[in-house]
Amino acid sequence: MNCHPTYCGMTATVTDAGEIHLSPNRNHPESKGFLCQRGHSVHEIIDHSARLLRPLQRNDRKGEWQPRNWDPLMDDLAKRLARPERVAIWMGHGAVVSDLNRPLLFHFAHTLGITVWDPAVVCWAAGAFGLAATGIVETNTKEDMAQHAECILLWGWNVVSQPTTGPYLMEAKKRGATLVAIDCRQSETAKIADEVLLIHPDTDAALALAMAHVLVRDGYVNRDFVEHWTTGYEEFAQSLHEYSPAWAAQVTGVPEPRIVELAR
Ligand code: SF4
Repeated sequence: MNCHPTYCGMTATVTDAGEIHLSPNRNHPESKGFLCQRGHSVHEIIDHSARLLRPLQRNDRKGEWQPRNWDPLMDDLAKRLARPERVAIWMGHGAVVSDLNRPLLFHFAHTLGITVWDPAVVCWAAGAFGLAATGIVETNTKEDMAQHAECILLWGWNVVSQPTTGPYLMEAKKRGATLVAIDCRQSETAKIADEVLLIHPDTDAALALAMAHVLVRDGYVNRDFVEHWTTGYEEFAQSLHEYSPAWAAQVTGVPEPRIVELAR
């Protein structure tokens, strides 16, 4: 699931009878013996009665699924793949995070000329595109954050979906860092944050623009960094003029003074 950048370490033991036992690997350098409930339960998939062991097919969306034999089904699929303009592939999220299926499926689709969708969940894709568009793909590491960050914005981020980042946040917090959660609901992250800003759904950009407005207006910009590492700064700074904290307060529902204080 969303466990990137950590995949927890497990120790698997197989008994003489073929039973698999999983336990947390306490020697794993990252997860250090942690497994979430999903990790603890994953071995149940193997012998689960609902697990698919042979192909099923139905002729229309409301039809019953019927078991099929592999050979005729593969012939049928091969015939359909012969018309790649009528075929598309959507891979499941599990296939993506395994790091192996994703490139294989993309190669397969590209070899045949089939449309393939990147199923990256919206926060990953939008976040990565945003960072890449500004020239940065990794801004820091979680270790760096734990050791050095003074203020951490948990923007639309829920600690529950990335439990392995949690210990690094807590390390930063114990060191004195301030955690600010920005979301449109009280998620589990709100419980560990020093401050929670609840914004109206779909208004993140307004909040970000107003904070940028304050940074530019009040001179909090690191000019040296901007000159060495950015392009288009002056145009961007000028475009912020209309996005005042008063305007963003109307859009986001966050009072103007809190937007200003957050930016500062
Ligand atoms: S957090 Fe849970 S699901 Fe994610 S890698 Fe660890 S055990 Fe697996």
